[in-house]
Amino acid sequence: MSSQPQNERTFIAIKPDGVQRGLVAKILARFEDRGFKLVAIKLLKPSEQLLREHYAEHVDKPFFPKMSAFMSSGPVLATVWEGKDAVRQGRAILGATNPLNSAPGTIRGDFAIDMGRNVCHGSDSVESAQREISLWFKPDELVEWTPAQAGWVYE
Ligand code: GDP
Ligand code: MG
Repeated sequence: MSSQPQNERTFIAIKPDGVQRGLVAKILARFEDRGFKLVAIKLLKPSEQLLREHYAEHVDKPFFPKMSAFMSSGPVLATVWEGKDAVRQGRAILGATNPLNSAPGTIRGDFAIDMGRNVCHGSDSVESAQREISLWFKPDELVEWTPAQAGWVYE
């Protein structure tokens, strides 16, 4: 595991319920505290077209119209985090899709009850992460930098 790249990236979004409930700082803190590096961040109201592309695998599902309306109703905080095993660790930090199955200590397990109000999104694979990052961000919105704490997070 120690040979895994430290530059794996994942797309994490705080959904409108998380922004409206004032959970932004708490959610970002979980990724910062763990040692992941923030490389992109912006607040936006996503268009229906962006949501259709982002949720391409769900477009034909019965819950999609309501979910799309909800997602475009309020601001979404789109972020990209970088670090070793970022995609898998990001999903673990979020918790299960249905918050009723999310362990305490996860974001959904601590802050959510209903599936349609599960506060956050996280990429489910490295390939999904690359696709989602390029949908939500332009290349020049991804910032290259070296955290001062890098040597204290990685051996
Ligand atoms: P995720 O990757 O953990 O976010 O889960 P999925 O990719 O399976 O689904 C995307 C999002 O659609 C979830 O986070 C839920 O907010 C929503 N969703 C998924 N399945 C259902 C469902 O059966 N009912 C409702 N209302 N929402 C759902
Ligand atoms: Mg998903």
